[in-house]
Amino acid sequence: MKELQVSHTKLHVLKGDITRCEVAAIVNAANESLLGGGGVDGAIHRAAGPELLAACRLLNGCRTGEAKLTPGFQLKAASVIHTVGPVWRGGTHGEADLLASCYQKSLELADSNGIHTLAFPAISTGIYGYPLSQATKIAVGTVKAYLENQPQSIITEIIFVCFDDATLAAYEQTFKELERRNA
Ligand code: ADP
Repeated sequence: MKELQVSHTKLHVLKGDITRCEVAAIVNAANESLLGGGGVDGAIHRAAGPELLAACRLLNGCRTGEAKLTPGFQLKAASVIHTVGPVWRGGTHGEADLLASCYQKSLELADSNGIHTLAFPAISTGIYGYPLSQATKIAVGTVKAYLENQPQSIITEIIFVCFDDATLAAYEQTFKELERRNA
């Protein structure tokens, strides 16, 4: 399953590179410094150009589970929402709540900044080591709960961008389980 409708919002999964997404905002899985890193963060900074780093320097970092907004500069996306996922430390250090908060705060920022379409990477599942199937359940579950609880949300489309086949399969499985539960 590659699509799920929640209230008036369409959720998709897509395999590819988030820096190429033509949405109003892409979400960056950043670190607390907001000064760039590896993985998707490095790719977004490379594609956006050096002005993104300059904009991030003015933000004074970002706590884990929080989110901050910058322009997208040379990206197709007009904005970047930077959020900091938790480092996986076995699951007993509040990781699930912090990861859910990344999605929640990103959606709140989108709604408060006129952003109708956005794309998320699989936050924390790369360098930060969050187990994939647990992370995708939190990602989709948090987005679904947000949209159901915010009928006034202006978000019409959300893409979960998957960089590899394992991530794609995990999202498709999560979509399937939610669809089955709704049936
Ligand atoms: P974290 O530190 O939060 O774990 P990573 O960037 O290491 O962040 O990984 C998060 C996810 O982003 C992983 O699934 C990784 O494969 C994926 N990723 C890396 N580069 C890109 C990209 N250009 N577009 C989309 N996803 C990407």
